[in-house]
Amino acid sequence: MLEETFPLSSKMRISVDHEKLENFSQNQVRFYLKYSSFVFRALRKPSFQKFLSWMLKKETIEEQTVRAVHVKVLPLRKNGKGIAGKCDTVRGRIRIYPKTTKFCQTFKQKFGRDTLLVYAGNRARVALIHELLHLKYIADEKTVRALAEDYFCIFTQKQSAQSAPSLFIYTMIFDAKISGKKVPPSVSSNPSIRLKLNETCLRASGVFK
Ligand SMILES: [Zn+2]
Repeated sequence: MLEETFPLSSKMRISVDHEKLENFSQNQVRFYLKYSSFVFRALRKPSFQKFLSWMLKKETIEEQTVRAVHVKVLPLRKNGKGIAGKCDTVRGRIRIYPKTTKFCQTFKQKFGRDTLLVYAGNRARVALIHELLHLKYIADEKTVRALAEDYFCIFTQKQSAQSAPSLFIYTMIFDAKISGKKVPPSVSSNPSIRLKLNETCLRASGVFK
């Protein structure tokens, strides 16, 4: 029944490049399998699927343009940087990639497991929003980035997620680089961040219902 209501959900699957598996240890593979199934569930949650349907409609992106969304098990690095997502705009195929085990270990030590889960889920959500927008704005990275930020903001606000942890995660995804730099723990209660968030949301026209 959910599949009927949210067609995007039925186009999603977990995908692994078997030939790349040998580059990873057993523990790493186990970790990435868990990561991908977690992200898969996070992306298919009805609340998020409902939001995506609304966003696609608002952006007049036909749902049929999206042919497949692959949640990749193994991470992808390009020029030393981790890739969050990719979009083949010709084929309408989107790929979502995980953070590395190394990043997750460091993150978990600093902020704990629960925060890591929230971060991983939201990073994937932002990546999917971003790649979906590429189907319309193709190579206009600037517009895609600005809109993705606006839309994610609308989504989190709707989730009654004006709670501190979500703001904290929002800040981490959009404003701060975690690796090498410490995110001050006070960031979640920093009023200027809240202000910035509100401004961002105001900029996004229309309210998600
Ligand atoms: Zn992009």
